[in-house]
Amino acid sequence: MKLAEKTPAITPEFIAQVRQRVARQTVPHFINGAFVPGERGEVFETLDPSDNQVLARVYRGHAQDVDKAARAAKAAFVGWKKSAKTRKKYLLRLAELLEKHADELAVLECLDAGQVLRIVRAQVARAAENFSFYAEWAERAMEGQTFPVDDTWLNYSVRVPVGVCGIITPWNAPLMLSTWRIAPALAFGNTVVLKPAEWSPLTAWKLAEIFQEADLPPGVFNVVQGFGEEAGDAVVRHPDIPLIAFTGETTTGALITQNSAPLLKRLSLELGGKSPVIIFEDADLERALDATVFQIYSFNGERCTASSRALVQENLFDAFVERLAERAARIRVGHPLDPETEVGPLIHPEHLARVLRYVEIGKQESRHVFGGERIGSEGNYIRPGVFVAENHHTIAQEEIFGPILTVIPFKDEADALEKANHSKYGLAAYVWTKDLSRAHRMALHLEAGMTWINAHNVRHLPTPFGGVKFSGTHREGGAHSLEFYTELKHIAVPLVDPPIPRFG
Ligand code: NAD
Repeated sequence: MKLAEKTPAITPEFIAQVRQRVARQTVPHFINGAFVPGERGEVFETLDPSDNQVLARVYRGHAQDVDKAARAAKAAFVGWKKSAKTRKKYLLRLAELLEKHADELAVLECLDAGQVLRIVRAQVARAAENFSFYAEWAERAMEGQTFPVDDTWLNYSVRVPVGVCGIITPWNAPLMLSTWRIAPALAFGNTVVLKPAEWSPLTAWKLAEIFQEADLPPGVFNVVQGFGEEAGDAVVRHPDIPLIAFTGETTTGALITQNSAPLLKRLSLELGGKSPVIIFEDADLERALDATVFQIYSFNGERCTASSRALVQENLFDAFVERLAERAARIRVGHPLDPETEVGPLIHPEHLARVLRYVEIGKQESRHVFGGERIGSEGNYIRPGVFVAENHHTIAQEEIFGPILTVIPFKDEADALEKANHSKYGLAAYVWTKDLSRAHRMALHLEAGMTWINAHNVRHLPTPFGGVKFSGTHREGGAHSLEFYTELKHIAVPLVDPPIPRFG
């Protein structure tokens, strides 16, 4: 393995140091500014997906730990909400510190989540950008409005933070997916309890160290490690946490909706996807090919916005499938820390088994073109796969969340639209055509929260992110995050005493 030859700071010695550090201690919670063991002292193990050996031991949080974190966050809220200027200063400091610790964060994410270095480096940079972007919003965005009705009343609105935010994240891109919620939540005056996924808990620990180094007031940011049904559920049910930002599976999102209903919590759910990429015969086929291959196989295929259903127009179908298979065959599968690697191991043996089950279903129900088999017997490696299917097949309808592309032919625009929308999910869509009117028509009628035209997924922080149907319930990003993480209040003041009807 050529460990990070092209990235001088990440040497094999550096990687060994990071490994030793995580192996030496049990990863703690971060509550009220201090690293603490779990109240019950229970621990769980997190595995290295490249060999399934134990990477670290982590305290397994329960309701008592969440309660301590929620109380600390509630107490810290009183001071934190006071000054946007102060929050801006801290967020800028956090962005700098994320950059300072970028190498360690990148190595931890590669080791823990199996994501490859080239992807993870970009994600760490994005994590820092999340803080610098929302730092700039902290002061400006809280501005209110006035409502001139007549000269006897002053009506105005103000935005105030909601309180303690519960942030529950999945295992596929833990640092990026947590910071893009933590940053706006904090910028707009809230405090946070983060519950990271149990399969990739390590960067949350490093993030907590960065918060400590930034010297944030204790309790503003807290991390409780543990399982979804225990620590996660305790966050969902805690009465002092009025808001939940959740990213994960659709079924978990539905359960959280149910469990939080008695407390009428504010929810933002970012859920699963089965996003179509639609390639018309007039498209720039080279670019469409590059984008389709990147969108399904990057992040090891464990990507919510993956273009996992490629809808390809009939006339070019066979040739395009052949080229997809050629490209899949050339993808470099390897250790996440090898800078040459394009696809790393899947997160966990259980997830590998799930993806391999879909491969078997695909082989029975659809036409297997290439790949999909396990590589080796130690880690969770799998060869990027290509299937030709009909749109109603299981592998065309269910989220596999692995490097398996399902390709489906279509006749014309109406057929493409019908097939694209025939899905319970509606997160992203991608349209490739040189006919701009058609591209806009498709974008208007596609049942997706986000559509990219002649492009892969390049996300800009001010734009609304989120899905429709079973892919989610909300939008975040830019002003949409402001709406979610604040309450809008109306205040009315008479400038001249208004007549008051007299009763009694
Ligand atoms: P998951 O739903 O199993 O777990 C997500 C988080 O929820 C974890 O932290 C888990 O511990 C916690 N959890 C589980 N049960 C819980 C409960 N009863 N109460 C509270 N918390 C609970 O999802 P996953 O397997 O970690 O992630 C993969 C899924 O995430 C895929 O479906 C993928 O599409 C989705 N995802 C969506 C987006 C998006 O932005 N739409 C982004 C990334 C991943």
